[in-house]
This record gives sequence, C-alpha cells and structure tokens, in this order.
Amino acid sequence: MSGENSFDILNRIFIAKKQQKIEDIKGYTMKYGNIVENGQIIDEVLVSYFKAPKSYTTENMCEINSHGGNIIVKKILEICLKNGAELAEPGEFTKRAFLNGRIDLLQAESVIDVINAKSEREAKTGIKQLEGMLSKKIADIKQDILDVMVNIEVAIDYPEYDVEEVTNQQIVEMLDKVEPKLQALEKSFDNGKIIKEGIKTAIIGKPNVGKSSLLNAILKEDRAIVTEYEGTTRDTIEEFVTIGGIPLKLIDTAGIREAKDEVEKIGIVKSREMAKEADLIIAIFDSTKELTAEDIDILELIKNKKSIIILNKIDLPTVLDENNSLLKKYSSNIIKMSALNQEGIEQIEENIIKLFNFNDINFDNETVITNVRHKNLITKAIENIKKTREIIENQMPVDMIAIFIKNILENLGNITGDIVEENIINEIFSKFCLGK
Ligand code: GDP
Repeated sequence: MSGENSFDILNRIFIAKKQQKIEDIKGYTMKYGNIVENGQIIDEVLVSYFKAPKSYTTENMCEINSHGGNIIVKKILEICLKNGAELAEPGEFTKRAFLNGRIDLLQAESVIDVINAKSEREAKTGIKQLEGMLSKKIADIKQDILDVMVNIEVAIDYPEYDVEEVTNQQIVEMLDKVEPKLQALEKSFDNGKIIKEGIKTAIIGKPNVGKSSLLNAILKEDRAIVTEYEGTTRDTIEEFVTIGGIPLKLIDTAGIREAKDEVEKIGIVKSREMAKEADLIIAIFDSTKELTAEDIDILELIKNKKSIIILNKIDLPTVLDENNSLLKKYSSNIIKMSALNQEGIEQIEENIIKLFNFNDINFDNETVITNVRHKNLITKAIENIKKTREIIENQMPVDMIAIFIKNILENLGNITGDIVEENIINEIFSKFCLGK
C-alpha cells in the first residue's frame, strides 16, 4: 500500500507481536505479526515499513509479506480494500514515483523493460537506464542547448545591442556539438531493438536436413527458453532463445517440430514464407548428400539477406564442404556441424556476432536506446536541429531561431518527461502489470 492513509489502514488489519506506535517505527524496518479480521487470524505475516519521502513512491508505504498461495493473498487484498485501500491501476506505484519526482519518465519506462526482460542483456540495459545513465546523457545535451539559449534571450530582449552575430556563431557551434551525440543515440536503437526484440531468425532447409535437430540443439544449449509468441504470419509460434547471450526470435519453431511425418515435413514453400519475415536466415543442408535442385531453391532465398549456411551431419561421411563453389556464391558464412552431437553451435554464435557487428558495440558501457518512443523523439530533435541550421543560413531573425531551438528542447524534455502530456503518461503506464 502506498499513500497518506496506508499506515491507518494497516493499523486496522495488522496486529504486531511487539506493538509500537507508528511514529516510533523506523522506515526500512519490518515487523512480525498477524493479519486479523473480526478477531480472527487470517495469516502470520511480516510487514515492511517505508516512510515518506524515503520509499519507492516517496509516500508512506507498507508491504505485507504473507504466506504464498492464491487464497491467502487474495483474502488479505480483500481485507485491505474493505478497510479503505483502493486497488492500484497497472503501473500506479511507478507512476506515483514519477509524478512525485523521484524518477523521470525514461526511468519509469525502464522499470517495465527490466520486468519484461527476456534476456540478461536486455535486463542489463534496462537496469542501466533505470540507474539514469540515459537520463544523464539527455540532461547534458539539454544543458548544452540551454547555455546558448541564455544568450539568445539576451539578443531578443535587448535588440539595441548588436549581439546577434556572435550568438548565431555560438548557436552553430552548439548544434555541431549536440547533433553527433543525438545521432549516436539514434543509431544505438538498431542494437537496442535487437536487444529488446531479438533477431528474427528463420531456420530453413528441405526436409530431413536436420532443422528440428538444430532447434533442439539450440534449446538444449540454452535451457532457459523464455517466451512463446504468436508469429506475425498466421498459425506460427515464435520462440525466444539466446545463443551466447544474443537474443534470437525463432520463427515458427512449432511448425518445424510438429512436421514429423514425411508429407508434412517443412520444405520449400514454408521456407519461403519464413525467409521473407526474417532478419537472419540459417539455411541447413545435408553434407552427406550432393546439392539438389531443391537445395538451390533454398539458396536462392538467402540472397541479399543476412545468412548462415550450415552443413549438417558431419559425424557421417560427407560429400559437401565449405569449399563448394556453389555454396560460396551465396554466403561466406559456412559452418560445418552435427546437430545430433550438438557440435558447431559456438560457430553459429561467432557468425551472428560478425554479421550484426556486435563486437563493435560495448554493451556494458554504451548507452543504448531500446524504446521506440525515445528513438522517435530523438529523430525529431535531429530534424529540428537541421531546421535550425536552415533558418540561420537564411539569415532569419533570432526570435525565429529561438522557436526551433525550443522545439529541440521540447523533444528532449518529452523523453525524460519534464514536459509531457497526460495522455502519453497514461499510455505509458498502462503497459505495466498490476502491482508495479
Ligand atoms: P528436418 O526435417 O529438417 O527437421 O530434419 P530432422 O531434424 O527431423 O532430422 C532428419 C533426420 O536426420 C533425423 O533422423 C535426425 O536424427 C537426423 N539428423 C539430424 N541431424 C543430424 C546429424 O547431425 N547427424 C546425423 N547423423 N543425423 C542427423
């Protein structure tokens, strides 16, 4: 519970073993006792006290730790509601933390990311944003702009002093300084998107080459399959896995696994559908057999796509290898593997790192934009920088320039939420789950 009356409500329903007045209880402490209704003990609990302003929401807060299990938890919730508490909206605790100024909007949004993280890397990025690394970067950029805004205001307020020329020079210097920083952030979204959504990956190949065996090998390696999604094409399921910490969203894993009987085996038609959707294609071939016309059809699908060719079943005598001139024509990433013996998975990982330039990014130190709302606002800010430059080149008066610079500030302010409309705030917090 959070809010002015939370301790009053608590007093009505909780009897501590060692009674103490609320004024005498320190924040960040716990008390042991019972939740009681009409003299009946409902559960034995621990209650944590957080006193304003040192709490998640900055309000008086308490947390009741009951025994697990749906019935008891539901019962205690009911008792709280009966005694005057109101059910929180999704994200309401975090929303209060934002509205009360403890965190900015960007940090509030990263709380959702941390909760929903599907890979360690995504969680790490979320935590970093929660710590305020991105907020600080945005704040620094805003400060650079504000420093120059002061001079602009002077030029507007005292037109009799001829400060305009100096000011224009300073504005251009400021734009030169700020623009690359914003561009770097904008670009980081390419990777941010991958961190958040995974690389959309299709495993294709004609029947019996080992698609489902590869899938199993990846899943065994990864043990922690996190989520299944509805695929974008009808009747498909997408599974989120990580290979060496790189998140992949595998397209139609169910289709591959279920296609057991010979007639149903996933072949070229299905492969074509999957390839269309994918950011990365893993094309598998049976290295014990010569390439067939069907294999060539598969190869045609990886043209102009990021792709990895896998020559499977190398535990058996092979006829195909990475020197095959036809294969080399289609991709330079050729891996020999045995899905059966789970050999070769690390090479897949290395190839993906190479294909997506992951080595160039230092995930631990770099600030990465993962949220499309933030990305769009940064893009708008860059557009407004370009417009400001045009206005200056066209010798427009300084008050016109000021309008465009204020637009840049507004775009950045919308990211951290210093200025932001209520409906946007509501939309953001509606994405939270209850109780967060
Ligand atoms: P899919 O139709 O492409 O999904 O192929 P499967 O994964 O069902 O594999 C077809 C057959 O090849 C099965 O009998 C597998 O056991 C076998 N197989 C798959 N990968 C390998 C491998 O690396 N080595 C060997 N020896 N057999 C494999």
